[in-house]
Amino acid sequence: AEGGNVKVVVRVRKFVRRELDQQSPCLVQMNPHTQQTTLHPPEESRYSRKQLEEKSFAFDKSFWSHDEKDVHYAQQHDIYASFGEEFLDHNFDGYHTCIFAYGQTGSGKSYTMMGTPDQPGLIPRTCRGLFERIEEEQNGSITYNVHVSYFEIYNEHVKDLLTPRTTPPTYLKIRESKSDGVYVQNLIDEPVKCYEDIERLMKMGDLNRTTASTKMNDTSSRSHAVFTLTLKQIQHDIATDSTIERLARMRLVDLAGSERANRTEATGRRLREGGNINQSLTTLGRVIAALADPKRQKTLRMNGLQNQSKRRVEVVPYRDSVLTWLLKDSLGGNSKTAMVACISPTDYEETLSTLRYADQAKRIRTKAHVNQDAVS
Ligand code: ADP
Ligand code: MG
Repeated sequence: AEGGNVKVVVRVRKFVRRELDQQSPCLVQMNPHTQQTTLHPPEESRYSRKQLEEKSFAFDKSFWSHDEKDVHYAQQHDIYASFGEEFLDHNFDGYHTCIFAYGQTGSGKSYTMMGTPDQPGLIPRTCRGLFERIEEEQNGSITYNVHVSYFEIYNEHVKDLLTPRTTPPTYLKIRESKSDGVYVQNLIDEPVKCYEDIERLMKMGDLNRTTASTKMNDTSSRSHAVFTLTLKQIQHDIATDSTIERLARMRLVDLAGSERANRTEATGRRLREGGNINQSLTTLGRVIAALADPKRQKTLRMNGLQNQSKRRVEVVPYRDSVLTWLLKDSLGGNSKTAMVACISPTDYEETLSTLRYADQAKRIRTKAHVNQDAVS
């Protein structure tokens, strides 16, 4: 197994219309050499002096997507080139990967993950890259098998984004088995042969997501969208007449707006939304905190698999929410994982909270291994 830290990058977007109208200043600065992101306090503020200090954090990468004229401006392609491509390499080697976008509503999560028709994001670029490689590496002895699923978690319910919306909505159940781990029962896992197949599914899924969000008071800021590609490689060795199968799963996750979780914590009250708190998002925070806890990591290193430490390891509350249960492997297990923390250039409080969250996620280690089986 290959142990590695969760890769954490930050991306700041440009001003949106509202910020331009209000002439809001940009509070974020990035150092392209040290990859530090610095947040400056707003000039007029209601904060105490201690809180008024500027705060700096170092990340694997700090993407400056604020000002197109800047030489360090990061385009959609730069985000993909810096770790999307690398993650595809891992997939072809047989590793699971996961990339998730975190940040407040309007910070650029969907832009980063899905993008626009003119400016495609990580998901379409990954899909394109996947088929380009399959075509390049086609040599007769390997068969490639690609499947796509796309679901949404809203109020702790799982909805398939690849089926037409029904009223009343159909919720899918989560199951766990020895052979398949945790999975969504009856979720459509569509076989695809080319990029155009996936494109059609992406569009259908996004349409399902937006239709629901206009009807139901902006669901997309409250829901988590999980896009999953599964790549199976079947390699037949003629000399030995043996067959090897490699399986890799790529999860690309557009999380609900983080302001929901923050408000819940800040008030200490259970924030109700549509009758429910965003349990998945608050639990994700607790899971990250538990995984990043230096005490826990030390115990793991020292005691290995001894019984005493086992109980403490189980403290990670994966099962407390649908999102964390389904993404258990991606968070602290068999996966190479990256987080893109998206920030607004003008919101001091929310941006600080996102940067702290991201800073904590850097400490999480996963243990990815190649998923390979000899089948005959
Ligand atoms: P979120 O999904 O986090 O709620 P969006 O991705 O919808 O946020 O972004 C909010 C707005 O800002 C959208 O209009 C989007 O097109 C724009 N935007 C976000 N990030 C960028 C970026 N890096 N460059 C240009 N426009 C962006
Ligand atoms: Mg969005």
